[in-house]
Amino acid sequence: MGKKKSKEKKGKKKPRKTKPSKKWELYEIAGDKVKRKNKTCPKCGSGVFMGKHKDRWVCGRCGYTEYIDNK
Ligand SMILES: [Zn+2]
Repeated sequence: MGKKKSKEKKGKKKPRKTKPSKKWELYEIAGDKVKRKNKTCPKCGSGVFMGKHKDRWVCGRCGYTEYIDNK
């Protein structure tokens, strides 16, 4: 009979040096709807935001680039 001991996690928490992602900053509450400020990647689907550059949008995940027309 194998009675497994439940694993106990030994709490050795390392302090994270990485900054928390500021994804919440990309949202804007308009009334009862949430608006997304940034474009989302057409390849990766909604949820993957594209970073805005001076003249283009770039997806950080797949590298998809969409150029902005500055006419
Ligand atoms: Zn993408």
